[in-house]
Amino acid sequence: MSSSAPPPFDPADPLGLDDLLAPEEKAVRDTVRSWAADRVLPHIAEWYERGELPGIRELARELGSIGALGMSLQGYGCAGASAVQYGLACLELEAADSGIRSLVSVQGSLAMYAIHRYGSEEQKRQWLPSMASGEAIGCFGLTEPDHGSDPAGMRTHAKRDGDDWVLNGRKMWITNGSVASVAVVWARTDEGVRGFVVPTDTPGFSAPEIRHKWSLRASVTSELVMDDVRLPADAVLPEVTGLRGPLSCLNHARYGIVWGAMGAARSSFEAALRYARTREQFGRPIGGFQLTQAKLADMALELHKGILLAHHLGRRMDAGKLRPEQVSFGKLNNVREAIEICRTSRTILGANGISLEYPVMRHATNLESVLTYEGTVEMHQLVLGKALTGVDAFR
Ligand SMILES: Cc1cc2nc3c(=O)[nH]c(=O)nc-3n(C[C@H](O)[C@H](O)[C@H](O)COP(=O)(O)OP(=O)(O)OC[C@H]3O[C@@H](n4cnc5c(N)ncnc54)[C@H](O)[C@@H]3O)c2cc1C
Repeated sequence: MSSSAPPPFDPADPLGLDDLLAPEEKAVRDTVRSWAADRVLPHIAEWYERGELPGIRELARELGSIGALGMSLQGYGCAGASAVQYGLACLELEAADSGIRSLVSVQGSLAMYAIHRYGSEEQKRQWLPSMASGEAIGCFGLTEPDHGSDPAGMRTHAKRDGDDWVLNGRKMWITNGSVASVAVVWARTDEGVRGFVVPTDTPGFSAPEIRHKWSLRASVTSELVMDDVRLPADAVLPEVTGLRGPLSCLNHARYGIVWGAMGAARSSFEAALRYARTREQFGRPIGGFQLTQAKLADMALELHKGILLAHHLGRRMDAGKLRPEQVSFGKLNNVREAIEICRTSRTILGANGISLEYPVMRHATNLESVLTYEGTVEMHQLVLGKALTGVDAFR
């Protein structure tokens, strides 16, 4: 046991979690943090209010240039980063806005991951380098208007016609859809569910944008409409059949969310802490009242426990030991706690809490989507319930 005094208490890192990070991990975190501070934070409130993500293609190229797209994939122009590095990047991006993190998650963990893991060599060479650089944006179409939590009932289907495939159906709530050059679309076939790599300029394919969202407003969300989309035989992802294909991609993206949600929580907590120190009522800073301190203390507990959990899962992923149930554990806990932290932060800011001048309400409304996509709270409770009891309660 060392006899030297412990380092001073740091309100930004009360558990000293920075000590768990290697220099190259801190370097990734700092690069992404400074990119977001420079390119997102000065504009995000305006983008959010307008319900747009202007300059998304330029942002994608910049994200590519800092290695954030398909970050943990190997080869084909990808950064080959560790799971912990990727997680840290997600946290920093979501501390800016969940919409930016969603852009990166869908590009890297869903569209690129699907091609990288299940694609042919030709598909990988054709798409991954331009997706890693941000030249090409990708989307991932699983959800349908009538099939969300239970994608097994999907209606989108692909039929053989000679050597070709003909794809018909509709996907709903698809991130990046209207700006994508390539869509990974999951469809029912005679052989089971298959994934298709669909260039979005293929005749019969369209992606109308979904407007009037009150969450993830600085993110492109779209329908995918496929009306007799004719694809060559080699458009199918050859290495997977069945729902385990899309579900494995979702597992990878969910892992990033475990970290990302803590970014939104951190940003809200920091805003609340700053405000509590300076806002005076009844003749003193509101941070001097016990009730406010109890809120701040409880939020700090959940924030840093959540980061510690994300870190633990990241180390397990890097060691090849991370189970999907453990990702459910992290996603369920961290998104739920993050939204609570945003809501409590909002109360500390009083009326200012509802203003876009502060990030908390924006984060809170964003997290409503994050709570639902990549498996709702209830789906992850059912995953854990099944793992704990051995009884499947999904239907
Ligand atoms: C902004 C945004 C972006 C998205 N991006 C994408 C994307 O890029 N690609 C994509 O494929 N999808 C995307 N989604 C869709 C998302 O994955 C689905 O919304 C999600 O899977 C839930 O499906 P649903 O909305 O149809 O809800 P439903 O499945 O209809 O669920 C409604 C409610 O019923 C509950 N429920 C359902 N079944 C059970 C059960 N057995 N027991 C208890 N409760 C149950 C659910 O938990 C939920 O609370 C996105 C969604 C949003 C909001």
